[in-house]
Amino acid sequence: QANEKESLYLVSEFANTYFQNILHKTDQGRSIGLSYFKERGFTEETIKKFDLGYSLNEWQAFTDEALKKGYNIDYLAKTGLTIVKEDKRFDRFKGRVMFPIKSMSGRVLGYGGRILVADKKAAKYVNSPESDIYHKSNVLYGIYHAKQAIAKEDNCFLVEGYTDVIQFHQRGITNVVSSSGTALTPQQIRLINRLTNNITVLFDGDAAGMRASIRGIDLILEQGMNVRVCGFPEGEDPDSFAKQNSLEELTDYLSSNSKDFIQFKASILFEETKNDPIKKADTVRDIINSISKIPDPIKREIYIQECSRIMDISEEVLFTSLAQIGNKEA
Ligand code: ATP
Ligand code: MN
Ligand code: MN
Ligand code: MN
Repeated sequence: QANEKESLYLVSEFANTYFQNILHKTDQGRSIGLSYFKERGFTEETIKKFDLGYSLNEWQAFTDEALKKGYNIDYLAKTGLTIVKEDKRFDRFKGRVMFPIKSMSGRVLGYGGRILVADKKAAKYVNSPESDIYHKSNVLYGIYHAKQAIAKEDNCFLVEGYTDVIQFHQRGITNVVSSSGTALTPQQIRLINRLTNNITVLFDGDAAGMRASIRGIDLILEQGMNVRVCGFPEGEDPDSFAKQNSLEELTDYLSSNSKDFIQFKASILFEETKNDPIKKADTVRDIINSISKIPDPIKREIYIQECSRIMDISEEVLFTSLAQIGNKEA
């Protein structure tokens, strides 16, 4: 079993070198993959730092090369790099730019591959399937490159996508990771919690981004961590915003727009509902529900006081409501 895992790591590592070689050293890689990354504003240094690569737009170029080098088809199939269908073999990431996903210690676990041209029939991103070395719910994209900065800054920015992580690094903000499209999990939060007690959730300026961040908040609170939240202007995400702004503008934006989760929920929900007593009550319950997830009673009390002030409801009523939620769960 240990041997098999090691074999999967070796195949993944081989692929990582292979995809980078294709990107930098072949005509197709340079003219299609490398120019794509450059158009997105990534420098040569950034591309190398994140081991970005390219998978040829051919059915089994990678698989053939791996087999030629002696890698076993079983391991190619188990990592998902090769799709085996009856007697046919296909490269999973055909014609995509490649983002290797690494463990805390820097081992390659899996890949995200992005399509280059918008195509309604194909998914924008394809990811490696679950395997003995790649468990999506335990992994955060960028953690290897971010871990020291997260500890040093005592804060972790959590973004939605690969390119958000990369663009932030290039701008000079390196305490950043991404859950890469999967809903945030408790294991991912605990991974961050080894390094800091503070998370700032940055979400894309679209409705999907906001919904995902609201779900994430409660999970983070349940782990006893402090959570702040920061959105981006409509249509922008951390990548596009960082690309258009200097480091100073970006840090200014983050510090003036990051909100405590209470202020955040209050600002988005409360603004829409304050004139409607029934909806207002729902919002208050929603926030009390979040507060009830905080393990520390002192923090809970402070949040109740703040909630009372923002929503103009007596602390007494809020405490009663909090107690009711507690009873229901007990
Ligand atoms: P880009 O800037 O390259 O278009 P993005 O990171 O801004 O990508 P989003 O649409 O904001 O993309 O999605 C956030 C993340 O969700 C992506 O980075 C990717 O990990 C994941 N994702 C997006 N679309 C898909 C998809 N069709 N299949 C699987 N994962 C996806
Ligand atoms: Mn998005
Ligand atoms: Mn995005
Ligand atoms: Mn984007």
